[in-house]
Amino acid sequence: MSTAGVREVVILGGGTAGWMTAAALVRALEGSGRRVTLVESDAIGTVGVGEATIPTIHWFNQIVGLDEAEFLRETKATYKLGIEFAGWNGPGSAYFHPFGTFGPPGDGVMFLHRLIRGRLDGLDIATEDVSLTARAARTARFAKPVADPRSLLSTLGYAYHFDAGLYARYLRRHAEARGVTRIEGKVATVEQHPETGCITALTTEAGARIAGDLFIDCSGFRGLLIEETLGAGYDDWSQWLPCDRAWAAPGAAEAAVIPYTRATAAEAGWRWRIPLQHRTGNGYVFASRFQDEDAARASLLAALPTPPLADPRLIRFTPGRRRRAWVKNVVAIGLSSGFLEPLESTSIHLIQSGIAKLLALFPRNGDDALLAEQYDRVLAQEMRDIRDFLILHYRQTAGRGEPLWRYCRAMPIPETLAYRIDQFRRSGRIMLSSDDLFRDASWFAVLDGQGVVPTDYNPMIEAAGAEDNRGYLNALRKAIADACAKLPTLASQSG
Ligand code: FAD
Repeated sequence: MSTAGVREVVILGGGTAGWMTAAALVRALEGSGRRVTLVESDAIGTVGVGEATIPTIHWFNQIVGLDEAEFLRETKATYKLGIEFAGWNGPGSAYFHPFGTFGPPGDGVMFLHRLIRGRLDGLDIATEDVSLTARAARTARFAKPVADPRSLLSTLGYAYHFDAGLYARYLRRHAEARGVTRIEGKVATVEQHPETGCITALTTEAGARIAGDLFIDCSGFRGLLIEETLGAGYDDWSQWLPCDRAWAAPGAAEAAVIPYTRATAAEAGWRWRIPLQHRTGNGYVFASRFQDEDAARASLLAALPTPPLADPRLIRFTPGRRRRAWVKNVVAIGLSSGFLEPLESTSIHLIQSGIAKLLALFPRNGDDALLAEQYDRVLAQEMRDIRDFLILHYRQTAGRGEPLWRYCRAMPIPETLAYRIDQFRRSGRIMLSSDDLFRDASWFAVLDGQGVVPTDYNPMIEAAGAEDNRGYLNALRKAIADACAKLPTLASQSG
């Protein structure tokens, strides 16, 4: 490592994390005289999954400067309006976690209290009927949110499904065009400074030596730099998130593409179904202590909606987080920093979040203990918040008798989550911090969808009488249905 500050940034890994980081860094460092080099191994390859995103992806595409039409074309992407959770309250049950907000524009959290009150007063009104995004998803319609805060269309939200391999290739072209140097080869040795322990260079099996001042570890689950070299440690969260395996199998494209991910509860986990332009992404995330790998594979194959295009591939993981994601002059981004299963499609968001933090805390010298501590603290909190949101899905289920689901209904949960569930049940309030990724609408969708029923609401809304409130909700339901009917169908649009 040179003493003149960070001149050479080296990224180890060319999966989604590596190329997202390279594309963002090269753009942010433009003109600063700093160079970005990425090393990846074709022989090792990438994890090859990670197809569903959440709306924060727009931030990333914007800072990198991607053109949406080109991005959709190049990555064979489709629009995603949310997630359908099927079978989480027993066979035949389904609820929808939509992006965007519920109710009319601008009424935000208070609207949820109006809805709770209407129901406590006897009104039969479905949660999906008060979300324009959910209605659009169910009727295969799509429009982008508008900026006009008076329009119902401002309550819409969307993200994408895309092909992870094509996405990495697309970002690679983008990053290389802006000056990122790519080196192909398997890193065999890692050099460290004899006194500081900072990493100074990587050498590939073929003998290429890549020296650097700051190293970004995007080497996947193994964490070649952060763990195997610097021993950061790992917090295992499998007592709350028991799934530790996934079978993934691409299938033929479906005749009609739906604008949402489907997450279907199964005997020892859940299956994902992700529509892309050219194929369907399928997988089964399961807990190996409740079902063996062969049985899980057979379960996935039996449930495929279209013929498989390849043999299922097994991925093993440990849910949790790297105890320190920045150690000395190494910052871990992507799977090397930890993994939360894909139930709410949060890993790509966490990559972006790592990149955003790195840009905000970019060190003058690679090794800066105070910046590292801040990076870790904020990332750890974000991962704990997402962890709690995921645990909620497993904890609050009904109607499934298999051992995994019985275990989850009885398992002790983090106090932070128990507090949120209790508060919602008692007062209709969703207790969030300003940094929580998932906001009121998302927590409400899942709490409500998984059968947690609030017994009270915020009395601030009582300025209107009960009858007026019911009338308001009925009128809103009709306005949303009317607005939805005017949205263009997905079939009439490309992408
Ligand atoms: P990888 O893809 O594993 O890439 C690691 C890179 O490091 C590769 O290029 C490899 O060649 C390189 N490398 C490793 N060792 C060496 C070495 N010695 N020398 C040179 N190069 C090396 N996320 C979402 O947001 N949405 C989803 O729907 C979603 N679904 C998922 C489903 C499953 C089952 C799993 C397991 C993950 C899912 N994810 C999802 C997470 C998502 O796949 C990852 O966050 C994303 O792909 C980033 O992976 P990565 O780049 O960190 O690691």
